[in-house]
Amino acid sequence: MASHCVVVGAGILGAAVAARLAAAGLRVTLLDQDQPGRATSRWSFAWFNSNDKGPRPYHDLNHAGIRAWAELAPDLDGDAWYRPVGHVELATASTAAELEARVERLTGWGYPARLVDAAEAAALELRRWAGELLRRARRTVRGLDDARVVELKVCARPLPADGQSIVGRLPGTPGVYVAVTHSGVTLAAHLADLITTDLTTGTPPAPLTPYTPARFSSGIE
Ligand SMILES: Cc1cc2nc3c(=O)[nH]c(=O)nc-3n(C[C@H](O)[C@H](O)[C@H](O)COP(=O)(O)OP(=O)(O)OC[C@H]3O[C@@H](n4cnc5c(N)ncnc54)[C@H](O)[C@@H]3O)c2cc1C
Repeated sequence: MASHCVVVGAGILGAAVAARLAAAGLRVTLLDQDQPGRATSRWSFAWFNSNDKGPRPYHDLNHAGIRAWAELAPDLDGDAWYRPVGHVELATASTAAELEARVERLTGWGYPARLVDAAEAAALELRRWAGELLRRARRTVRGLDDARVVELKVCARPLPADGQSIVGRLPGTPGVYVAVTHSGVTLAAHLADLITTDLTTGTPPAPLTPYTPARFSSGIE
């Protein structure tokens, strides 16, 4: 088992992995080419979800990611930022069938999802929230005439070619372990646990087996 790990990249993924490895008793060095936490993760810590992730193992990985944050939030001042509110998606004539099928699939997978009609949607007080958002926006943009753009951020969106996470040892490069994923916010806490287990036991946990880098490198020894 490695006793000293160097984690390259202090975004949500690297920071979560480094924290977990350190908690497991390893010596950890966290490197970043820039300021920690200033890249993509800074601008996208928004939404934990698995509402449209497939196939089933990838959905389960993301669902577990949501649960991992729920467990972690109380230790991380969750009252200040953790809002497990879910989301509402509006169906149009062209998307209704897909949405119905998705809700049925998600329900079958044990993920809380259901169709709501217009009356129930109203009961969810969407109008009230829309009004509240408008009120806040008006308060926020007072004096907008004098406003100017002070910062513009373009984020790189790490998106593996097949849309699924890449997590595991890099074939042909001993000692190098890769973790690249979309939905890194949703997945970070859970992936950090799985990666720590892999690195401390030498055996990849079952949920990681579909995501090894080896799937892109047939032929590399
Ligand atoms: C607009 C947008 C919205 C998103 N919304 C969501 C969402 O709601 N929910 C969700 O789950 N996901 C969302 N995502 C995806 C999510 O943001 C990413 O999956 C996640 O931030 C990736 O985290 P990371 O730590 O891998 O990368 P980053 O946050 O980019 O961190 C990588 C770090 O590595 C450093 N680095 C890079 N190369 C080197 C090097 N050679 N040497 C040293 N350091 C290096 C960088 O400086 C950086 O600090 C969104 C993405 C975007 C762009």
